[in-house]
Amino acid sequence: MEGKTKRLYFDDPYKVKFEANVIEEIPYGGGWALVLDQTCFYPESGGQPSDRGTLNGLSVIKVVEENGKILHVLKQKIDSKKVCGQIDFEVRFDHMQQHAGQHILSQSFFELFKAETLSFHIGGDVSTVEIDIRKASEEDVEKIEKLANQIVFQNKEIKTYFVSGDEIQQIPLRKPQKKKGPIRVVEVSDFDFSACGGTHPYRTGEIGLIKVLKWERIRNNVRFEFVCGNRALNDYISKNRQMRQISIRFNINEYEVVSSVEKLFSEFKGQKKKIKKIQEQIIQYEAQEIASNAKDVVIKNIFQEKTPEELRFLALNIIRNGEVVVIFGLKKEARVHLVLACAESIGLDMRELIPFICPLIKGKGGGSSSLVELSGEEKENLEMALDRACEFIKNKL
Ligand SMILES: [Zn+2]
Repeated sequence: MEGKTKRLYFDDPYKVKFEANVIEEIPYGGGWALVLDQTCFYPESGGQPSDRGTLNGLSVIKVVEENGKILHVLKQKIDSKKVCGQIDFEVRFDHMQQHAGQHILSQSFFELFKAETLSFHIGGDVSTVEIDIRKASEEDVEKIEKLANQIVFQNKEIKTYFVSGDEIQQIPLRKPQKKKGPIRVVEVSDFDFSACGGTHPYRTGEIGLIKVLKWERIRNNVRFEFVCGNRALNDYISKNRQMRQISIRFNINEYEVVSSVEKLFSEFKGQKKKIKKIQEQIIQYEAQEIASNAKDVVIKNIFQEKTPEELRFLALNIIRNGEVVVIFGLKKEARVHLVLACAESIGLDMRELIPFICPLIKGKGGGSSSLVELSGEEKENLEMALDRACEFIKNKL
């Protein structure tokens, strides 16, 4: 009986409590791993995560299979030769729903598109299957879902049994096995035959709804995300709630959300364009006012409300309207922004200011001879930087 553990979940996946003898207790990754003579715990494998639960009331962190031994990993040692185990049935049943759902989904892909399942994984929120298929349309997925759920509604029996030796050739396995028996077969009555060591319910009705959520190309295949049973119910509850809230808040029909949102979005884009035009007009007036009120050829100012784009637009409009030099600063959030512009008729090269001002604001920038923009992080030095720029310009004039 060396290292061999009887897997109680093979015969009864609904069994949650068991008693066992400790065969071995070995140090494992800072904790301890127990090998038992029998267990209800499913060890992580074949895309299905391990069960959760307790041994003598202590939490089992994970269950893995290494060198043919099922290791129940615990944080501490158990000083007993006998243990009382209990698995978390909510987690177990969830895995049963996802796993059996995958068998049906995989056989549906095979039956409808002759496409094989290359890999399968039960995740914390969704499960995935990678299918040997080049692409899938919305209609293809709908066909798959309809067939899969029809098998669920027919409440077919799910049988598990071991087949030994050459007898395995008599079983129409979806994926033929190279290994010669004994092989555990999971049969969804008259529909699917798979070699599998996982946990599944006794009837397909227990799986509940099988729903594909999305799909994407991966390598040369397509990977489908799906949920079954309670996960599908929770997904529907959440999506229906959000859909209802959207429809109430924006006064749209929940079955016409896409076209309604598209309409709203195009209206929003139109409004944005209009606002931008109006803002530009306002800035043009502002530019005229600043230029006509200017008492000096150098106009210096600090703004707080504008965006860098608006500041640039304002500066450009001012130098177009008058023979002036503009030294503007923007003090917003964590960064500072400077726009230094000069009417072309004055003939200064504003780029000469870049190496002079940048170190003061710990920034960088660039531009043309008539307009440069600088951006930096030294907010406190903005006033000083503008004063220095002003002096520099006045010395050149
Ligand atoms: Zn399975």
